[in-house]
Amino acid sequence: MALYRPTPTFDLLRVPGLGRLLRWRWGRLVFQLPMLALAALIIYDGLSGPQLAPQNLATVSVWIHYRGLVLLALLLAGNLFCMSCPFTLPRTLAHRLAGRGRRWPKALRNKWLAIGAFVAYLWLYEALDLWASPALTAWLVIGYFVAAFVLEALFAESPFCKYICPLGTFNFAAAAISPLQITARSQDVCRACVGKECVNGSAQVLGCGTELFVPRVVSNLDCTFCLDCARACPHDNVALAARWPASELALRPGPARPPAAVSAWSRRWDVAFLALVFAFAGLTNAFGMTPPVYALAATLSRWLGRADEALILALIFGLFMLLLPAALGLGAAWLSRRLGAGQGGRWSRHRLRDAFTRYAPTVLPLGVAIWFAHYWFHFASGALTVIPVAHSFLLDHGVTRFGSQPNWLLGPILSDDLVFLTVLAALALGYLTSLHTLQRAAAGEATPAGRRALLPWLALWTALAVAAVIVFSLPMEMRGMIG
Ligand code: SF4
Ligand code: SF4
Repeated sequence: MALYRPTPTFDLLRVPGLGRLLRWRWGRLVFQLPMLALAALIIYDGLSGPQLAPQNLATVSVWIHYRGLVLLALLLAGNLFCMSCPFTLPRTLAHRLAGRGRRWPKALRNKWLAIGAFVAYLWLYEALDLWASPALTAWLVIGYFVAAFVLEALFAESPFCKYICPLGTFNFAAAAISPLQITARSQDVCRACVGKECVNGSAQVLGCGTELFVPRVVSNLDCTFCLDCARACPHDNVALAARWPASELALRPGPARPPAAVSAWSRRWDVAFLALVFAFAGLTNAFGMTPPVYALAATLSRWLGRADEALILALIFGLFMLLLPAALGLGAAWLSRRLGAGQGGRWSRHRLRDAFTRYAPTVLPLGVAIWFAHYWFHFASGALTVIPVAHSFLLDHGVTRFGSQPNWLLGPILSDDLVFLTVLAALALGYLTSLHTLQRAAAGEATPAGRRALLPWLALWTALAVAAVIVFSLPMEMRGMIG
């Protein structure tokens, strides 16, 4: 089966200097150590610094800067956060202490747990007001280190990154629109390769932690950009190649290609559902900071006869992040199959899963745009808060050469109008890219019936985009800022 692979015309690993640094044995460490220092600072200031969110490095750096910068990096290059993730630093130590570890249970080798952890993480963020608590933010970072270490010590296949980590799940989904992807420079070299060190590792270097096999990599899903494969390959045959963003979601048109073969995202319910949850969660997360959510919460509270905020949030999140995408996605797949069942009956032979897994992932560009719009709003509205917070931190620790008092009025880098315009532009671009990907995913279905099969998805993505414009037009709660 022919699958899309980028042709390594531009290969980041061939860039003089940078390529060598990235492939160097300690290359990843160069990026991880600053992040480790930042994590240590977050824990220190989160636990011992002022417990007012806008004045603490933990809350400002995690909830204003980290999230905005992660998405910018994903759009401009790729999964740079996972590449420099400090939580994976104990991996080598865990392997040394505990050996390779046992296999992750087969029943859990999918994205269902990751989807649950992702939604639970977003729920915790709201239910515990993590954005307002430096101490809880610090404990979250500590919890991350412990969880990554324990799971790495107990199991092979980096289960924390691949099957659990909510941040990794977010990055894997969003990396579908990144312009770089791991690929083999030559498939022939891989065919002749005996050791397959990119996945098996060698005496000096670990192989791919998430057990991806380079010649078969056709997407950024599960790739942490760690580049262990490039370091392990004895034939220098691994490329970090440029590609069209979102190209992994649909193959180039080809004759008589069976529907299930048109996406690098395999025919799995779990990964297709992840794409839908990712997009709907982005909208729900933004909706949770607008006035109508309080009215909804009050209505639910009256129905339940109690004012349990955590329970009400769980109901809202369960409904909008899980039940709604499941119902609408399955409904669209069912309709898609019905509408495409005429003219030769080709579509009538396809199963519900084929329609669902073929088209649901095309929502990802729109989903990324929704998350970008939200995080960009917070970043552009509060990026400069880090200056008075760092100033205050230095003053508190006896570094007084910066002189006067911190300027707590610093915050926005753009006016409100410009932020709103960029948000609209991002949503429009994401929506059009999703439509283009939908059309590409339908390649080979040139009959009227085949085209009709697209209509439910077109309607769903349009409704989602309109809902996003409405949500971002509402006044949004400012978080982590003074005033
Ligand atoms: S080790 Fe290198 S040559 Fe061998 S299969 Fe992996 S990428 Fe291909
Ligand atoms: S394919 Fe595996 S080893 Fe290579 S960069 Fe991705 S996660 Fe790392």
